[in-house]
Amino acid sequence: MTDIGHLISGEIRETCSRKQAVYNPATGEHAKDVLLAPVELVDEAVDIANTAFPEWRNTPVIKRTRIMFRYKQLLEDNKETICRLIGEEHGKIKHDAMGELQRGIENVEYACSATELLKGEFSKNVGAGIDSWSEHQPLGVVAGITPFNFPAMVPLWMFPMALVCGNCFILKPSERDPSAALYIAELLKEAGLPDGVMQVIQGDRTVVDRLLESKGIEAVSFVGSTPIAQYIYEKASQAGKRCQALGGAKNHAIVMPDCDMENAVNQLLGAAFGSSGERCMALSVAVAVGDDAADRLVGSLAEKLSSLRVGPFYDNDNDFGPVITQEHKEKVEAYIASAEKDGARLVVDGRNPEVKGYENGFYVGATLIDNVRPDMVSYQEEIFGPVLQVVRVNSMEEAMTLINEHRYGNGTCIFTRDGEAARYFSDHIKVGMVGINIPLPVPVAYHSFGGWKQSLFGDLHAYGPDSVKFYTRRKTITQRWPSASVRESTSFSMPTL
Ligand code: NAD
Repeated sequence: MTDIGHLISGEIRETCSRKQAVYNPATGEHAKDVLLAPVELVDEAVDIANTAFPEWRNTPVIKRTRIMFRYKQLLEDNKETICRLIGEEHGKIKHDAMGELQRGIENVEYACSATELLKGEFSKNVGAGIDSWSEHQPLGVVAGITPFNFPAMVPLWMFPMALVCGNCFILKPSERDPSAALYIAELLKEAGLPDGVMQVIQGDRTVVDRLLESKGIEAVSFVGSTPIAQYIYEKASQAGKRCQALGGAKNHAIVMPDCDMENAVNQLLGAAFGSSGERCMALSVAVAVGDDAADRLVGSLAEKLSSLRVGPFYDNDNDFGPVITQEHKEKVEAYIASAEKDGARLVVDGRNPEVKGYENGFYVGATLIDNVRPDMVSYQEEIFGPVLQVVRVNSMEEAMTLINEHRYGNGTCIFTRDGEAARYFSDHIKVGMVGINIPLPVPVAYHSFGGWKQSLFGDLHAYGPDSVKFYTRRKTITQRWPSASVRESTSFSMPTL
């Protein structure tokens, strides 16, 4: 049995109040335990980070950036290990884990441009002999709390930028697959990051609450499910901390009758079933406009679903792997049962697929459900599994109303050949990230990521330009050096030019 510990001041620590099982979802095996930190260890990590902060804050930004350049190389050199750790604990297939890591590395690349991003603004002679400038100062110690579904990428959305901005960072990874995050944090030491600037603390709600209450933490970035995102946002805000909390999703794709149906079907398959549907940008609802389009869509999807391969992570021929836990498998299966009970048509039932040699793994096969209605629980809630539901509507307006009225607003997509329709859709849809014939419109690292409505609490999105704003605070300085030629008498009126 392997114990997964914490990274405190550059060293692995094995203190714990409790242990929690970490499973290999491909086999169902319990081969590791994560050590859940006692609150005293949280306090110690916060103190260490605050001690490290003054020197790190004053380290020239170009030196902080050089560490990131070395770090990018280390992530690339160690990608096999990182992806094995992701596979062992999350279950995603190696090709998908490689994609996750690459998208994470792109955030490191963006952080490497910190010298440019942190330049600030300067205005000379805003008054007689007066200059004014604005600078971006680091916040202090910031915390990141991350979900299980992207164990490397989501932490990489946060800490590279937080660190180059001059903050110290404490990461609390998902307790269900914590090893990849711990490993990539350890690589920072090898890249030259001083001890205590980046730490990892393992835990569950107790650790999260302690971080939220701690007076030594200035800001919190959270990614996870909506009820927890809302809780984190409220609690952090009450404690006077800056907070961004990204939540769950229910992403719809509109399939217009004029679209290239073969392309739409191929794209939908990858976006619905890739990573077993455990992506916050997974397309889990296809809204077909008109019965003819719906029949063609469902017919073609059903035909192709039978050839999808579900299996263990190390076999790169598999399309997707297991879901994260036995409990989650049962939850996904219960949603499938509820849709059928509510009157939807179960076209392909992926429950209990046969995966030879892996009978104890947490597998759910690709599932297709037609004639889903908006009043069904399976439509309203996030399933987070390999389940694609089809809703039939008569017009694009009807499809857009469905999306706009849904409580989630993370991602969406339209498949069409009609530029006018696509432009109208992207302009009016109430969703934060929109694709036009692009099923997973995950913004690149130099844009920012975030949904609307209950998919995001806070106003700044994750990574990209918004992250520079989130991890710094603006200070504006106005300066004059009095001299013989510039000297003013006392004035009691508001200064003007
Ligand atoms: P989760 O909300 O269960 O857990 C996320 C984090 O919160 C974990 O670190 C966990 O330890 C912590 N946590 C869990 N319960 C808590 C509690 N009661 N109090 C305090 N902290 C708690 O989410 P998950 O199951 O790990 O991840 C899947 C969810 O994340 C999905 O809803 C998915 O849509 C969402 N997600 C959103 C985005 C996005 O960018 N919007 C990205 C990835 C995942």
